[in-house]
Amino acid sequence: MLYLPLQDIEASKLNIDDPEHLRIHSLETFGTHDGPGIRMVIFVQGCQFRCLYCQNPDTLDVKAGELIAIDELVQRAVRQKAYFGKFGGVTVSGGEPLLQRSKLSTLFQRLHKEGINTCLDTNGRLNDALVHELLVHTDVVMLDVKHINDEIHHKLTGLTNKNTLALADYCESIGKRLWLRYVLVPGWTDQEEYIEEWGQRFTNFKTVERVEIIPFHQLGLHKWELLKMEYPLKDTPTPTEESKQKTLAIFNKYFDNVILK
Ligand code: SF4
Repeated sequence: MLYLPLQDIEASKLNIDDPEHLRIHSLETFGTHDGPGIRMVIFVQGCQFRCLYCQNPDTLDVKAGELIAIDELVQRAVRQKAYFGKFGGVTVSGGEPLLQRSKLSTLFQRLHKEGINTCLDTNGRLNDALVHELLVHTDVVMLDVKHINDEIHHKLTGLTNKNTLALADYCESIGKRLWLRYVLVPGWTDQEEYIEEWGQRFTNFKTVERVEIIPFHQLGLHKWELLKMEYPLKDTPTPTEESKQKTLAIFNKYFDNVILK
């Protein structure tokens, strides 16, 4: 199987760029899928997970993408501010944003000075003092908890879920607004006992405002082909309606606000 090597690079080595520039993959100006309201979405470059179902494999390489000045990002957001309305703002997604957490602290602080809401879409790969500093300037955390069983999580993503769970606990301890996300993948994340366990793990959290179920799809297939990488889930079907409804019913037992995307 041709597969990307796992780049388990020490996070400190990733902050070698000019601190005033963020390494990004792309920008979306009127996003409605990544956080509250209408948002400018910054997709950063680089991720240390290797999810079998990754829909954006072109964002994985930590050295690719392009550097963009944080000032420019702030100016763009300010120009768009009128469209954000009461709930919108800026979301940083990826790739994995936490790999550039120091720079994101700077970006989010500047956005807050402009009165712009900030949202972080993360896999929770890291949970250290720099992440905690970033959370001070973050309004909403969208956290992907890809599997509750660590062994399966490892097979699915290449890495442990321990930091992700620790980050969820930290968010709960500081009262940080959380949107939890769960990608429903046939044969990988549709086991009822583990969905139950996932629900039980977070049901008592006071910070969870919303849980999103994201059914697996094949829209990223062409990117794997373009990158000449073998896509491990190329034959995996989308979840059946029955499976989606079953997952929704389980999560509904544990959470008040579950959205099936
Ligand atoms: S965490 Fe996101 S960007 Fe990283 S490999 Fe998984 S799906 Fe892809």
